[in-house]
Amino acid sequence: MTSANSRNASVLFSSSAFDGHQEVVFLSNKKCGLRAIIAIHDTTLGPALGGCRMWPYKSEMDAVTDVLRLSRAMSYKNALAQLATGGGKSVIIGDPERDKSDALFHAFGSFVENLGGRYIVAEDVGTTVHDMTLIRSRTTNVMGFSAQEGSSGDPSPVTAYGVFCGLKAAVKFRLGRSELEGLRVAVQGVGHVGYQLCKFLHEAGAKLFVCDLQCEAAARAETEFGAQIVNDGDIYCQDVDVFAPCALGAELNARTIPMLKATVVAGAANNQLECSEDGAKLSARNILYAPDYVINAGGVINLSYERESGYERDLAMDHAGRIYEIALDIFHRAQRERRPTSDIADDMARELLGV
Ligand code: NAD
Repeated sequence: MTSANSRNASVLFSSSAFDGHQEVVFLSNKKCGLRAIIAIHDTTLGPALGGCRMWPYKSEMDAVTDVLRLSRAMSYKNALAQLATGGGKSVIIGDPERDKSDALFHAFGSFVENLGGRYIVAEDVGTTVHDMTLIRSRTTNVMGFSAQEGSSGDPSPVTAYGVFCGLKAAVKFRLGRSELEGLRVAVQGVGHVGYQLCKFLHEAGAKLFVCDLQCEAAARAETEFGAQIVNDGDIYCQDVDVFAPCALGAELNARTIPMLKATVVAGAANNQLECSEDGAKLSARNILYAPDYVINAGGVINLSYERESGYERDLAMDHAGRIYEIALDIFHRAQRERRPTSDIADDMARELLGV
């Protein structure tokens, strides 16, 4: 190894994102242009389960950092969701619009197979059910292929139910209310999960305020649930009890946190905090934050039922319902220790993993 290479290796092993990963595999197949990385963070609780993201990363180091960060997050999410799966993730470097081919996903599937079941792949940003079906022709260690072939299909309803349960726990803890009749909730993004969440909230009697970059999505919530449509930029400062981010990440930050009137934040989006200090900023404003990866675990819970018992949605929904108690545990401990809920969730996940 040259000295430059050994320097890079030490940068990798000692980087904060690496954080004790068990295995990181770099994959390449020149014929089909595959360049991919599979990261297995922790298999203490079972085989590493996590999606495959396809993205045109600006640099190889960006891809490495992303896969490591996402894979560790899956360990934490799976552990707190009480799943018998560890954490892993994979990334394919490439543009999902231009660089896909059957050969690419076949080659990727063969590499997954070579890992002997230590990593189980599923859909993520930039990959689809069809891509999982291609991977499945090379390995059985894949989930979320087409529902007609016996997989669990669209995870959004189970994700939304888990978010709904986490939101109810937060409302109970912060506002002392068990019933949601008349509760005012602002939902940012009414796509797959946001729409289903609105449905649960509407059925429970909540008053909804919604925004979406796609006018038709917001209009559907207005028609079906009597939601009030608000401008995208005004969603943070609505006079509501709960803010539910269900669009993209990093929506809780130094600019938006001071605008919030809600005293509860509970939504589906991944990576809601722009940086870890934003958890403390929310608790300093006495806003109860239901940690994103805890309450949006319904999707991975849904997948786990595809594996363990042949897929049964009722079992997956029951399991997602446990998010209510898990979230309450986090809130109580955060109150006892006077620390942000986001830090407490990370601590609890690490305790379950014994690290
Ligand atoms: P989606 O793409 O179906 O819906 C997102 C919606 O948000 C879209 O309608 C989009 O137009 C809208 N949007 C994007 N930016 C916006 C903005 N700035 N303001 C208002 N609206 C905006 O995605 P989804 O599957 O519903 O997932 C939503 C979030 O939940 C994502 O962060 C996703 O990573 C996370 N999540 C989803 C699942 C799942 O089961 N689908 C599981 C866990 C986490």
